[in-house]
Amino acid sequence: MARREPTIHNPALVVTCPRCRCVPGAPCLDTRGSRLKDGRVHRDRTAFHRDREARRRA
Ligand SMILES: [Zn+2]
Repeated sequence: MARREPTIHNPALVVTCPRCRCVPGAPCLDTRGSRLKDGRVHRDRTAFHRDREARRRA
């Protein structure tokens, strides 16, 4: 069963967002509960994911 992904897959989606508490795989939500535009995620989430990857490779 193919499901169309409406947004670009962001690698940061594999971690829980420290800002909006979105679980892995779920898009970030703004303060009103709407998804962020264009599959974007919070900068905190991107940073968190980058840190995690860096630590994994270290
Ligand atoms: Zn978020």
